[in-house]
Amino acid sequence: MIDLHTHSRVSDGTLSPAELVTLAASRGVKVLALTDHDTLDGLGSARDAAAGMALRLVNGVEISVTWEHKALHIVGLDVDVIHPALTAGLARLQAVRDERAREIGKRLEAKGIAGAYAGAEAMAQGARLTRTHFARFLHRAGHVKDEAQAYKKWLGRGKPAHVNVTWASLKEVLGWIHAAGGQAVLAHPFRYGITRSWLIKVLTAFKQAGGDGMEVVSGRGNPDELHTALHLAQRFELAASVGSDFHAPAPYSQPGITVELPANVPAVWSRFKN
Ligand code: AMP
Ligand code: MN
Ligand code: MN
Ligand code: MN
Repeated sequence: MIDLHTHSRVSDGTLSPAELVTLAASRGVKVLALTDHDTLDGLGSARDAAAGMALRLVNGVEISVTWEHKALHIVGLDVDVIHPALTAGLARLQAVRDERAREIGKRLEAKGIAGAYAGAEAMAQGARLTRTHFARFLHRAGHVKDEAQAYKKWLGRGKPAHVNVTWASLKEVLGWIHAAGGQAVLAHPFRYGITRSWLIKVLTAFKQAGGDGMEVVSGRGNPDELHTALHLAQRFELAASVGSDFHAPAPYSQPGITVELPANVPAVWSRFKN
């Protein structure tokens, strides 16, 4: 089993990096990338935890991009965690994140939801704020019936507490990942809520800008999506990556993916140097 897209509580997951590594190893994951949102901070303790385990830890990060007014997620894999281009770029995105979180808090307050910013901070336990933390707060405080409804009602695109921000450009992010010696992978291609023709535009721009791979399995995935994704990977000459996008243990959500790739689609993990 392999898993090249997972989160810890350093961003919006619920497990510590060490707990994630231990869970993945116990499930038989042999190659694991921790890919927290716009931060490399969990990788040190994940590496310590992986020492002596039959699991290869890959340095990863999931980076927020704005492309044509849309938010895209690019996973950087096998990166050098101290490369200054990458660390400076991520520091800039964390500043965008902090400012956006303040604004989300203000908008929720203006709609009568008291203590939203502080509530999200309490959920984050020291991590930089993501929308997930606001969704958890809204759910726990009884403002929505589940986290999915938090996006539908408040945090999703076009909803009252959705704050448009400009993340980094596609070109910048591919530059940071490549400077740090890594592979750049388009995350969860079918989760952007865009039409098929927009997805083709995204893949065209991504490939043209030097993108290396795309996820052909994301989360639970499904056979239709795998089939379509493999077809697109071949068409755009992108390597295949697979990831659970694991955030929290649940019956339907665990780290580890089993996949067999056809001979005409190379595995991105065959290109890792470390
Ligand atoms: P952010 O990067 O702060 O905008 O937060 C994005 C994160 O929110 C994603 O990585 C998901 O973990 C979560 N998320 C976004 N949309 C949804 C949704 N509709 N349902 C559940 N989680 C979502
Ligand atoms: Mn997330
Ligand atoms: Mn994502
Ligand atoms: Mn993710």
